[in-house]
Amino acid sequence: MSEAEQRQAEPRVLARADHTISRAAMSPNALKVLYRLHGAGFLAYLVGGAVRDLLLGRKPKDFDIGTNARPQQVRQCFRNARIIGRRFRLVMVRFASEIVEVATFRRSPDPPEIEEGETADVLAPTPDADEYGTPEEDAWRRDFTVNGLFYDIADFSVIDHVGGLADLDAGVIRTIGPPRLRFDEDPVRMMRAVEYAARLGFRLDDELADATASMHSEIRRAAPARIAYELLESLKGGSALRIFRGLEEASLLGHIVPEAHEAAVGGNGTILWSLLAAADERYRKEEKLGEETLLALLFLPQFLAALQTAGDRLPRAGDIERLAREQLETAMLRLAISHYRGHIVRAGFLLLTRLMVPPRSGKHVLRTVRHEAFATAWQVMHLLAEVDGRYGSALVAWEQPVRQALEGRAHAIEGPKPGREGEARRRPRRGGRRHNRPKATGGA
Ligand code: ATP
Ligand code: MG
Repeated sequence: MSEAEQRQAEPRVLARADHTISRAAMSPNALKVLYRLHGAGFLAYLVGGAVRDLLLGRKPKDFDIGTNARPQQVRQCFRNARIIGRRFRLVMVRFASEIVEVATFRRSPDPPEIEEGETADVLAPTPDADEYGTPEEDAWRRDFTVNGLFYDIADFSVIDHVGGLADLDAGVIRTIGPPRLRFDEDPVRMMRAVEYAARLGFRLDDELADATASMHSEIRRAAPARIAYELLESLKGGSALRIFRGLEEASLLGHIVPEAHEAAVGGNGTILWSLLAAADERYRKEEKLGEETLLALLFLPQFLAALQTAGDRLPRAGDIERLAREQLETAMLRLAISHYRGHIVRAGFLLLTRLMVPPRSGKHVLRTVRHEAFATAWQVMHLLAEVDGRYGSALVAWEQPVRQALEGRAHAIEGPKPGREGEARRRPRRGGRRHNRPKATGGA
């Protein structure tokens, strides 16, 4: 069937009795929004990932809503609503525990805006009446068939304009429309395809895989902030190992994080995959890792390898600092990572090397714990020690004093003021910092 024929076909509609979506599995706030819009006479659909996840029996991350009400009309329905976005204005309805996003159906295939680090055209006009569209057009501008399903609050039916139900059953990620065209419009969709396939345990449709195989370098055209956003999403959700293996297989990783790609194809692949597996395990245990920690994992194998080339002793602090800066600077620019976040990752690496040898003194522990990058370094060190036993003993030596420091019991770890004995043990420094160089516990 051609796209034109496909688009003229009637949607497939599953009545309430013919699907498994239960309102009990939805966020009560999203339901409130749906009912309020419906009550005001508008179409009100649950859209996108939430419908997909509910049909698969998974817990949706968020509940996005589509409507034919214009943003102003949506806002008038709620006291706690705010319009955001430059081009396609979204309405955010704020509740105590969550924000529900309501978007007016639109026809433009443009990718959705990202609020943080937004790179949208500042001069773009405010929405034009003809940028809005019908529900069907709204389904067609979405990325993958499994992401193009609607749940209609009016009669609790599922509406499928794009063949998403069949692909959910078959376990296939397929673009809506020809993959080459859709990837040309927005190359970030190549990353998203790999993400969904990995997360849902689906396979990539053959035509989609072929398109990616020939177009992977086009990802370089994508706005850095959008790539960084997808990378973080990929690291966060508990499927990082599978997603990054998928990105590597699809030849995308080398363009977006060449540092991780080098690790994957060189001798450090094992450590990269083990770190990502360890991060996934934390997610399963509902132990939250910071975004800086997650980002750091992608660069850690290369950093460790560079440390190791310096021999069995850690390089001195100044050299480590230079190394971390050299390795991370271009990456942070390439991914438009904020200055502050880049600083935390870089400083986190410096602190990490401190944690690789037992603490020298209580003061040393306090200085380390009070550093703004400590939380990142501490999490990274735990993950590292988990995947490489050689870091275990140093970490053990830090555990108790760090706990004491964090509990505010500084006096317990500062120890006695150095008396004569203490002074006698101190060696005079010859050759500057060299003598302070701790012995490395071994690289990875
Ligand atoms: P997640 O569980 O990761 O939130 P999601 O499907 O909800 O999955 P979002 O990134 O939140 O994904 O996007 C919401 C919806 O917007 C998608 O389901 C899809 O329909 C549409 N969408 C998102 N990104 C694009 C894109 N680049 N091009 C076209 N449509 C997109
Ligand atoms: Mg979502």
